Amino acid sequence: MDGPLCSMNEYMTSSSHPVPMKISVTREANFWWASQSENFRDVFPDGTLWAPLRGSIGQRNAFWDTLLDVRPGDIVLHYVRPAIRGISRAATLPVLAYPPARGYKEPADTEGRLVLTDPVREVHIPWDDIRDILPPGKRPLTIKGTPMRGYFFDVSREGALQLLQKAGLEITDGPCEGPPEAASADQHLGGPSDKWTLGAIRTEQRFLRNQQLLLRGSSCSICGHSFPEQLLVAAHIKPRKDCSEKERMDTRNVSMLACLFGCDALFELGYIVVDESGLIQACKPASKQVSARIEGLAGRKCRAHDERSRGYFAWHRQAHSGKVDQAGANTPDLRWHPRSP
Ligand SMILES: [Zn+2]
Repeated sequence: MDGPLCSMNEYMTSSSHPVPMKISVTREANFWWASQSENFRDVFPDGTLWAPLRGSIGQRNAFWDTLLDVRPGDIVLHYVRPAIRGISRAATLPVLAYPPARGYKEPADTEGRLVLTDPVREVHIPWDDIRDILPPGKRPLTIKGTPMRGYFFDVSREGALQLLQKAGLEITDGPCEGPPEAASADQHLGGPSDKWTLGAIRTEQRFLRNQQLLLRGSSCSICGHSFPEQLLVAAHIKPRKDCSEKERMDTRNVSMLACLFGCDALFELGYIVVDESGLIQACKPASKQVSARIEGLAGRKCRAHDERSRGYFAWHRQAHSGKVDQAGANTPDLRWHPRSP
């Protein structure tokens, strides 16, 4: 496969081959320093960088707002005192989001910004090397040459590239170009089209799926069966493009796990809906084979239906009921108007 997917290949090979590895760095890439605690163990493999918009007393912090400047393709150095422990690559633009389910201590309804990343490699760059390479008085170091207090800082390209080389990475600027064609742009976390679109969609799917696995375990929310994780996908209950800004932030509740044995497609295409009490119902006429499959599901309780997701299922039901003419687009009067969460 080409395109940004190569960053995952890089990561997968890193665990089994202690040989020098290549990392592609585009000319436009910026470099970032994320100061982390032991939450590194969760957030690095999960691929999340999140910061609140404001602190507990309403304050803003410059080192949170720097997340706003991250772009897909940028390189992130993850620092856990006293060493750099991981290298990752930004996969999406920053978006408004509540904190991911793992690795952040803020309450679940804290408004913040999220960037999804692809882990490239775990490394160990000790403090002595960092101090030798990065100049004091320039972010992320204080004038005394100690790490600045705070979360997220820009790092000079020159210093960052030297650190990557210290980590044993060979820097190239070729193979990780974007895909030749952009996928549907507004469905992914990263926003409008850019050359990293496919990578962003894949990274978002991984993030949503991992979060659902963590919250609900590895079973299909529709048929209830347990499956290997690879056979479950994160299905949007309400598509991202139809969500309000508040709803987009609510990544825990706006999606669910559905299996690849038909549940995902039956739900997405509106053959089945979930009623107000959480029971699965047939929604539109179907062929004999499809009907037989639906009959096996109708009347079951949907495992993802609860107070927080109820509104999204209502939207899905409204969007698909009465759409027997297969007209495609939902007309505005069919739309469910969300209550504030
Ligand atoms: Zn299923």
